[in-house]
Amino acid sequence: MSREPQLHPRERSIERSRELFERARRVIPDAAQTNSKRPERFVVGVSPTHAARAEGSHFWDVDGNEYIDYLMACGPVILGYDHPAVMDAVTEQVSDGSMYSLPHPLAVDVAETITEIVPCAEMVRFGKNGNDVTALSAKLARAYTGRDTIATAGYHGWPDVFLSASDAARGIPSGVSEYTERFGYNDLESARRIFEDSDDVAAIITTPASARTPNDGFLEGLRELADEHGALLVFDEVFTGFRFALGGAQERFGVTPDVACFAKAMANGYPISAVAGRRDVMKTIGEPGFTFSMTYAGEVVSLAATKACLDVLQSNEEEIYDRIYAVGDAIREGFNDLAAAHGIDDRASASGIAPRVVTRFTDEAGTPDPDARSLFLQEAHKRGVFVPGSHIPSAAHSDADVEYTLAVYDEVLAILAAAIERDVVADRVDGQG
Ligand code: PMP
Repeated sequence: MSREPQLHPRERSIERSRELFERARRVIPDAAQTNSKRPERFVVGVSPTHAARAEGSHFWDVDGNEYIDYLMACGPVILGYDHPAVMDAVTEQVSDGSMYSLPHPLAVDVAETITEIVPCAEMVRFGKNGNDVTALSAKLARAYTGRDTIATAGYHGWPDVFLSASDAARGIPSGVSEYTERFGYNDLESARRIFEDSDDVAAIITTPASARTPNDGFLEGLRELADEHGALLVFDEVFTGFRFALGGAQERFGVTPDVACFAKAMANGYPISAVAGRRDVMKTIGEPGFTFSMTYAGEVVSLAATKACLDVLQSNEEEIYDRIYAVGDAIREGFNDLAAAHGIDDRASASGIAPRVVTRFTDEAGTPDPDARSLFLQEAHKRGVFVPGSHIPSAAHSDADVEYTLAVYDEVLAILAAAIERDVVADRVDGQG
């Protein structure tokens, strides 16, 4: 199979994708298992809906169309899809079994490695999803401090404690929201106000960075606030962990939390998560009256994948993070140069730190323009660049990938500029997305 998708809309069929979408929506609510993979997140009728296989930074949809992937399975695949060290470790472990009646030594090995890599990590427990460990971090902070309120910013999955105070609170008893206070990311004052109004704050739980990076003093300010009031500082590093730097965003931005949550980039696509933190806090998990336990936590194939992935990241640290940052920077700068060259830099822009470069499409008034976004996605997907809006570069993204992507963006932004000029953006969107 070619590593170079063709630089023009191909005679491209997505017939099998369409059929699968129709079948899926009859038997699967949302037609997908993960919000960010729902067909409606892309351009229905144009974007592929199901993937068949993947190599490096590319995947093939069920109709055989090839794409450069900028979603990378929502973040886990940091080394590229078929990384040999991870595949070998997994294959070897599968032949020995995936689960036993006792913990496997790999749980100890991997926990030790995480304590070497992650600044806050003195002890580590494993889960399977980000949700498991973000929910645990709130429960742990409450049990450790004897307080109930969680001050939080950012997305942490669907545990009640986080969604109770959001617009996705259906199914959560209203009383739960009494114990959740939201503050604004990069708005230290709003965090401070929570502590002024309450002496019951168990923890500040925030993403240290996401599409936005911390303003000077923001994370340091949260650290001081937590210390001053005897609350814990928890970083949700589910996305940033092992990605913004080997030691996560806490290493990249130089602020150490008491506890941190990890999941995505630790096993190159195998299902595992971890909570890591201060020994005295983590030991609460083993105390009477506190439970965190799952049949599949400690499942060994994922631990083998984690060991292999962390080994590769540790022994090629400079090269891997240089590549991720080079790709992200090139995409962001290239996109913005092209938007300017086509005269639409007031309507289309790319921003964010290299490991997560986000595109934004707006109307004249500066409000988000979903049609412009759909047209961009549609034309990029037709040309073999699978961009969901943001870009998550992996160590497998090559200079050729970047070059091809920017050549596609040149064409796509020209199409968008012409559509904006003629005020026909919505008409040019073929799908219903
Ligand atoms: N926290 C953050 C920062 C995330 O990005 C996500 C997933 N997008 C989660 C928590 C939830 O993780 P999971 O989907 O693995 O349960």
